[in-house]
Amino acid sequence: MSNVPPPVPMVRPKILLVDDLPANLVALKRLLSKVDAEIFTAGSGNDALVLTLDHDFAVALLDVHMPDMDGYEVAQLLRSEDRTRDMPIIFVTAAFKDEIHRLKGYDAGAVDYIEKPLSEAVLLSKVRVFLDLHRNRADLQRFLHLLEDANRRLSAEIEERRRSEEDSHQLAGTVFATSAEGIMICDADNLVIAVNPAFSRITGYQPTDVLGRDPRLLKSGQHDSAFYAGMWGQLRNTGHWQGEIWNKRKNDEIYPEWLSISVINNPDGSINKYVAIFSDITKRKEDEQQIWRQANYDGLTGLPNRALFLDRLSQALADAKRERHGIALMFVDLDHFKQVNDTLGHSIGDMLLQEAAERLGACIRENDTVSRLGGDEFTIIVKGVDAASDAVTVAEKVITSLSRPFSLEGRQASVGASIGITLFPDDASDEGSLLRNADMAMYRAKENGRNTFAFFTRDIDDKMQRLVTLGAELRHAIENDEFVVYYQPIMDARTLRVEGAEALVRWRNPRLGLVQPGEFIALAEETGLIGPLGDWVLRTACHEAVQWQRPGRPPVSLAVNLSNRQSRQGLGRFIEQATEVLGECGLAPDLLKFEITESFIIEESQEMHGWLRRIRDMGIHLSIDDFGTGYSSLSYLRRFPVDIVKVDRSFVAEIHANADDAALVKAIISMAHGLRMKVVAEGVEDRQQLAFLQSADCDLVQGYYFRKPVPAEEFRKFLDGQDQPKG
Ligand code: C2E
Ligand code: MG
Ligand code: MG
Repeated sequence: MSNVPPPVPMVRPKILLVDDLPANLVALKRLLSKVDAEIFTAGSGNDALVLTLDHDFAVALLDVHMPDMDGYEVAQLLRSEDRTRDMPIIFVTAAFKDEIHRLKGYDAGAVDYIEKPLSEAVLLSKVRVFLDLHRNRADLQRFLHLLEDANRRLSAEIEERRRSEEDSHQLAGTVFATSAEGIMICDADNLVIAVNPAFSRITGYQPTDVLGRDPRLLKSGQHDSAFYAGMWGQLRNTGHWQGEIWNKRKNDEIYPEWLSISVINNPDGSINKYVAIFSDITKRKEDEQQIWRQANYDGLTGLPNRALFLDRLSQALADAKRERHGIALMFVDLDHFKQVNDTLGHSIGDMLLQEAAERLGACIRENDTVSRLGGDEFTIIVKGVDAASDAVTVAEKVITSLSRPFSLEGRQASVGASIGITLFPDDASDEGSLLRNADMAMYRAKENGRNTFAFFTRDIDDKMQRLVTLGAELRHAIENDEFVVYYQPIMDARTLRVEGAEALVRWRNPRLGLVQPGEFIALAEETGLIGPLGDWVLRTACHEAVQWQRPGRPPVSLAVNLSNRQSRQGLGRFIEQATEVLGECGLAPDLLKFEITESFIIEESQEMHGWLRRIRDMGIHLSIDDFGTGYSSLSYLRRFPVDIVKVDRSFVAEIHANADDAALVKAIISMAHGLRMKVVAEGVEDRQQLAFLQSADCDLVQGYYFRKPVPAEEFRKFLDGQDQPKG
């Protein structure tokens, strides 16, 4: 900082008049009244010196000749003081007009002389010169002060800026060094000039590996030149680029990163630097991949799931439309998978599905897709199918493959496959219709005896349409009293007399006529109507069966079918219902049989055992219906209070054609007898079958050979007819 005195305030300049003669002072004062200044007067040198202590005078007019202290002395004293050294002094003199005195006056520090008699003009002009000088000096000082002040502020500001720049440099340095993101800075020629530790951590390259080099050494080869051209184009146009990019680490590993590049320009707009900031997104990619896999693949088999299947199908359709090729869509449902699951447990079931998936994969070409829709349902998209026979080849391969026994942790299991096939473009051209067609055709394959395939046909579609309407109408069938029970006699195999009858429900649909249970039982099960329907059949049939009993006629039993769903919807409630019905109609419980299937009891629970015991304790018999189609063995059935086995009609039908089936029927009969169970053979249609069953010691027989299921009225007549002694 300089020694500039404190700023001079903008006040009127002051003039000091010193003279020992008051009259002179008055005269001078009057003359000077014309200048804009404050006038101070002193009668002696001493008084004048005292005044200068308090005031800063623009000019002093000093009388040379004064008694105590002459003007020279006063001037010398003023000159010796710092405060007053520069004060302009004008000597006012009359007496000493010669040059010697003048020189003496200058020596003492005078700047000018004014001689008496005073000329107003001379006096004023001289005084004004000093007043101007004084004013100028004050202005200069003020200006110097302002300058000084500005300078001080400026340097403070500069200091502040320097410090903050230093701080931000330091901060930038810390960020650079500690950032988790890799940072690479390149010069205008795109050569690396700096990289941070994260860069090295991610890429494996040390600074010495990359400094001065072109960043293209990180290139993975995964992007084409158009990709890089796009990147550079955007950098040039907007100064910024960001996106996902695959790069290569020093160890050649290719990895994805999220990269953001910014151009730093010089003031003239030319490129100064490129700053690239990136993070390794391998983990994020893996997570995304994982999420994508979970959303698109089946966790158990690793096959595409429904979502991905639909996606692949629409892709395949688009390709096929473009390339004018056909596609076959197959819906594959494993036969008897539920039994495997139920008897061998879910973990074996899961293993079977995994192996089935592998076998399916081996049946198709690389371009085709096997998916798992859920449960034991799979689909196959077969591309490039130009004739139905192409699809048949694949379907047969699948059936052969899935029919081979599965060996799972030492347990054997057999399933098969029912396959529905639909063709694009013949049957439909959109994903939804194709899938529906294939599904419907699969049901047709099941109906055709399973382990086979069926093509979608219009009549299948019609049948499905019918099912849909049936489903809608079924809801009102009970309240509209549209159901009716038919009865099919069950005969004693030896005497061929009626032992009893099986109650078989039918639906008299006002529009469609008589609908068979095969068409609506499953619907009733799905809609929960099976409960009320079962109750109704039980009540109706029991009341009917009471009519059959006659003195002198051996008691006639009644078999009522129970659906699996009925058990799940509350067997307890059904048993209560049975108790009530038996009580109200008076039928002997001993004449009532409940027909259940193997799968009914396969979900073995304490509760189920309890209900079955309760049924037996009431005196009601339990039959296992359709025996042989499931997976249980007679020895397994022994654990339940079952006393009748109904051999499925598919075995009876094959007795003469298939020696194995004949042997099986024989074995079932003898084993059942060993377990004190009776055997009913279902579906007896001719005399030979009856003869075989008789020779095999079968207890009871049922089938069209004797009578088809008939309405109650007719069955009653049949009983009456039998009562007539044969003539
Ligand atoms: P199911 O209990 O095995 O009944 C025997 C089926 O075989 C009956 O078919 C009967 O008409 C048929 N049948 C009898 N003898 C012969 C024969 O010699 N040859 C041939 N080809 N078939 C014969 P239906 O009446 O169509 O009943 C089919 C199935 O519907 C029944 O099989 C049973 O599972 C179910 N069902 C019938 N009525 C009811 C019911 O009231 N409640 C429940 N839950 N299911 C019922
Ligand atoms: Mg039955
Ligand atoms: Mg049956």
